[in-house]
Amino acid sequence: MKTVIIGGGIAGLETAIYLRKYGQEVTLVSERDYLYLYPTSIWIPTSGTRFEDVALPLAPFAQKHGFELVIDTVNAIDKAQNSIVCATQTLSYDNLVIAVGAGKMKPKGIEHAPSICGAAQEALSIKEQLEALIAKGSGVISMGFGGNPNDTSAVRGGPAFEVIFNVHNHLKKLGLRDKFSLNFFAPMARPGQKMGEKSVDMMISIFKRLDIGMYFGKKITGFSAEGVHFEDDSVLKSDMMMFISAGAGHPLVKEAGLPLNEAGFVQIDPYCQVRGTTNIYAVGDVAAIEGVEWRAKQGHLAEAMGRAVALNISEKAKGSPKREGYQEHMSIVCLMDDGRGGALIYRSTKRSFMLPLPILGHWAKKGWGWYYKNSKMNRIPRIPGM
Ligand SMILES: Cc1cc2nc3c(=O)[nH]c(=O)nc-3n(C[C@H](O)[C@H](O)[C@H](O)COP(=O)(O)OP(=O)(O)OC[C@H]3O[C@@H](n4cnc5c(N)ncnc54)[C@H](O)[C@@H]3O)c2cc1C
Repeated sequence: MKTVIIGGGIAGLETAIYLRKYGQEVTLVSERDYLYLYPTSIWIPTSGTRFEDVALPLAPFAQKHGFELVIDTVNAIDKAQNSIVCATQTLSYDNLVIAVGAGKMKPKGIEHAPSICGAAQEALSIKEQLEALIAKGSGVISMGFGGNPNDTSAVRGGPAFEVIFNVHNHLKKLGLRDKFSLNFFAPMARPGQKMGEKSVDMMISIFKRLDIGMYFGKKITGFSAEGVHFEDDSVLKSDMMMFISAGAGHPLVKEAGLPLNEAGFVQIDPYCQVRGTTNIYAVGDVAAIEGVEWRAKQGHLAEAMGRAVALNISEKAKGSPKREGYQEHMSIVCLMDDGRGGALIYRSTKRSFMLPLPILGHWAKKGWGWYYKNSKMNRIPRIPGM
């Protein structure tokens, strides 16, 4: 039985590693020859890390775990033929795991506001713009994130908070903070509510303390060279913008005739099997996750989905009814970094809190990047659930 995985991100790699642990034959198809470790990309704009340290080559993982790696772009899924059509070849599968991540909503003029959550190269573009503005000596920098009314789980605000806090501390270190005006914008009245009410209050008090302007509760209509445009025709004039569009369905799954929710994410059952199919699974950001109202698409959930699918595929191959679900892994775990320290944000069905971790928080997040790479290469033991 051969399983083909599309996508070499956090979800796809975890699925491949665990399928191999269970002795399954695996081919992983990725358009990039590297895994882009998004959570550690937040330091690229302020030179706290290098692009090469965030982009982890996939070939060593393939060699270590014994799966086939194909670098190619998948253009279509042919469910009837159990095959995928790539740019240079067609591949057949017995089981298919879709792990292509999310597409992005595209507001007007988005080319003026690159995203830290978009194409890997956008982080470099943010870095270049920031460096150019610093060389100029002063300016207005505005950063924010948007919503998706059709699926709140696709909203990603955490990295926007992290990047603006990192920029604040970077400018402070350069002795230039007073020369720059920093702003944060979002269409929600209380951005980051998913983290819990207390965390939002704490975030607002941090903005006030750091003198970061807040533009909340107004719909964003687009971007231009002038700045951020809002529904009341006001403009937040800016020399530089960073905007995280909410996630939306990936173009590949739209064309494939798979069941999608209103926002375009693939509908799955509690075991990550695509509804109405027998041998197709979806894991990570591409899937429509169901459950609590504050659910969020996160890396640790993507991994739990990958592990569950690997187990489910191998149990099914053995004829066993044993299955593992993903919903019990639903929680928000975020180590929010500001370049100097950080805060642990946690939310589960039982509790939610934000724990400030000065200095330690920053180094813990740096340590996680190191742990990720080395544990996936089996160089160090894995901490259960991580
Ligand atoms: C800046 C940032 C910071 C974050 N911080 C945190 C955090 O602190 N904690 C946390 O838990 N989560 C965090 N997240 C969320 C986490 O990174 C995502 O949930 C996770 O990366 C999702 O993994 P994925 O494999 O589903 O998707 P992705 O990482 O997007 O990977 C998808 C892969 O599929 C490939 N692909 C796409 N289309 C095709 C195609 N047609 N053919 C072949 N390959 C294709 C892509 O190139 C990519 O390699 C953060 C996200 C961002 C963007």
